[in-house]
Amino acid sequence: MSTIFSKIINKEIPADIVFESDSVLAFKDIKPQAPVHILIIPKIEIPKVTDLKGSEHAVLLGELIDAANKIAKEMGIADDGFRLVFNCGDNGGQEVYHLHLHLLGGRKMKWPPG
Ligand code: 5GP
Repeated sequence: MSTIFSKIINKEIPADIVFESDSVLAFKDIKPQAPVHILIIPKIEIPKVTDLKGSEHAVLLGELIDAANKIAKEMGIADDGFRLVFNCGDNGGQEVYHLHLHLLGGRKMKWPPG
């Protein structure tokens, strides 16, 4: 089932886009939890981590990581470090069922997460 992120991909609703390729889109989170909070998503609809198959999605996953590294560098947080998070399912705190990688940085992250 399509989510709000499909509307962002299709430019039906606005987002602050920071990176786009044929297969990946990245935009600022509407409710940032850190000075830098970017959502990096595949353009194809994959609901969650448990829908991923290494054999099928390895290249796409690599593209998400490459985008994260590129954005982190451009936003000046690569050297100090950052956090990448996939929330999966209810217990994982997932709200939007379109796979997304959170890129969080610009402050010291806490561990363990809440
Ligand atoms: P999740 O909890 O599913 O891992 O993360 C979903 C994220 O999407 C949340 O951090 C939330 O703030 C963000 N989000 C939800 N709706 C929108 C939207 O319409 N635009 C943007 N830019 N971010 C959104």
